[in-house]
Amino acid sequence: MRILPSFLSVWCIVVLLTSCNQMKEYQEVSEETSDIHSLAQPKRAKMTHLALDLKVDFDRKQLVGTATIYFDNETGANQLILDTKDLDIQQVLLDDSTKANYSLGEEVALLGRPLRIQVAPNTKKVTIAYTSSPKSAALQWLTPAQTAGGEQPFLFSQSQCILARTWIPCQDGPGMRFTYQARVEVPPHLMALMSAENPTEKNETGIYEFEMKQPIPAYLLALAVGDLAFQKIDERTGVYAEPATLEAAVQEYEEVVKMVEVAENLYGKHAWERYDILVLPPSFPFGGMENPRLTFATPTIIAGDKSLMSLVAHELAHSWSGNLVTNQTWNDFWLNEGFTVYFERRIVEALYGRDFAEMEALLGYQDLLETIEQKGKNNKDTKLLLDLRKRDPDEAVSDIAYEKGYFFLRLIEESIGREKFDRFLRKYFETFAFESMNTQRFINYLEKEIIKDDEVLAKKINYKDWIYGTGLPQNCPKVTSKRFTQVDAQLQLWKETQSTDSLNTADWSTQEWLHFIRQLPVQMDIEQMKQLDEAYEFTASGNTEIQAAWYVHAIEHQYEAAYEAIENFLINIGRRKFLTPLYSALVKTEEGRTLAKDIYAKARPNYHYVAVNTLDEIVGYQSAK
Ligand SMILES: [Zn+2]
Repeated sequence: MRILPSFLSVWCIVVLLTSCNQMKEYQEVSEETSDIHSLAQPKRAKMTHLALDLKVDFDRKQLVGTATIYFDNETGANQLILDTKDLDIQQVLLDDSTKANYSLGEEVALLGRPLRIQVAPNTKKVTIAYTSSPKSAALQWLTPAQTAGGEQPFLFSQSQCILARTWIPCQDGPGMRFTYQARVEVPPHLMALMSAENPTEKNETGIYEFEMKQPIPAYLLALAVGDLAFQKIDERTGVYAEPATLEAAVQEYEEVVKMVEVAENLYGKHAWERYDILVLPPSFPFGGMENPRLTFATPTIIAGDKSLMSLVAHELAHSWSGNLVTNQTWNDFWLNEGFTVYFERRIVEALYGRDFAEMEALLGYQDLLETIEQKGKNNKDTKLLLDLRKRDPDEAVSDIAYEKGYFFLRLIEESIGREKFDRFLRKYFETFAFESMNTQRFINYLEKEIIKDDEVLAKKINYKDWIYGTGLPQNCPKVTSKRFTQVDAQLQLWKETQSTDSLNTADWSTQEWLHFIRQLPVQMDIEQMKQLDEAYEFTASGNTEIQAAWYVHAIEHQYEAAYEAIENFLINIGRRKFLTPLYSALVKTEEGRTLAKDIYAKARPNYHYVAVNTLDEIVGYQSAK
């Protein structure tokens, strides 16, 4: 309820500042702050706590049990409305005893069905007996063969953006927070973990209890079950992984201790007590997911040389931007991701130096330019503030939120100086901790704390251009990297000599190799591809970033020597960031399309729903119904 006054004051400012055309647009977006991707109505009766009691049934690929929802009913509403999708609801009890009247509304595309429960003004809680569907979009059930150990099955969830409702009936919007506890029963030889206080050892009963004391939005609800072991790194950090992967993971991640210290020095105390990392099997669709207390991470960042640690910095940064101060709706997604990329690069800079961070910023800039070119510079999806009405919020996940968001914050930093900007961010996280933030509320705060009446500064930052304008604004900060300039020189030498003999690539990091591969000529013949591959072993690289970048060239140049490796990669890795460009490159030609379909048919069962949701369309896959 606290949202209302601030929303009104933001609205007033917007009216004053904008022209008529723009006004209409902002008004529509403003009125959506109750969240267009949720059918729940927390303004009437608001969920405050969740108590889960679930049994994990690997044979049926189902969760079976109860969810008890505690709620505030300050308005005296006669209904509590929850989001559900593909859930089988068997019974609802009021305050544990009397049976409640309830109904499931019509299915709404993308959003699922509202569960409407009749309550009395003094009802405190409802207990819902339910079963999740084997096709729950959040849950991926892996066979033993799909794990590193190969002997036990594995289950993990991915609730962002709006998939929590496919395994738990709840109020599923990023602007709605609640605490939770859970009792989860799994086969006795497996361990269960959640985004909560976690066990560090298996127990013989297979029953695990969890508690999350800090209120979180539903997209941060998470569960993983498998043959897992834990190793601590220090008193508040550690790694969970399958025993086969644990040691390599601990070695790769040991710098997380320093990362947490650096992050706290920058923007204040870590609010979640522990920061552990769970290494998932390779089919995990993202690089990482910032589930509080327990980041879920892809094993594809275990490069053996810690070169991909910025992903951990990213997920750690979400402990502040995203988990602590949360985008109110998915239209405001840049507030989660742009802030997090900025914070991530500050952690990376503090640990590995400015040169290293600038290489990552420049790779990010390249990604941003490519995304804007693909979408078109006048495309409204290149604005920071999105309009996702009637659309899957997963469409917000693009370099616009991440990199355009990053460059906007970097512009503010460069305009007012780092010291002042750091004070601003520190205060921002402190002031809005455990609250949600929307774009207009952020603008309000920016005006109040930074711009004030300084017209010169306002013009210099020109936030409207970034937030409501398409494409890349004129005042985007410039990034230069000495190390990339050296890479460019070596690439030029290769072009001139047509030989790798005199190239100096000693001590290049993953980032330098990525830049080299990305800048290779659009036209190359097979001999040139072969020469590079023989000299630098790109096809057989153990580094997934390098593999993915090289394989795009291999596909575009029909370099068949890499095809077997590409097929293996596509079948074994489920990270959407890699899969999308590879399949997109394949389908550009007739033969490539046939190959893509062939590989996809084999690989698709290994992919999580969120990857499949993107790839089906690219590959032209039609599921047999
Ligand atoms: Zn992120």
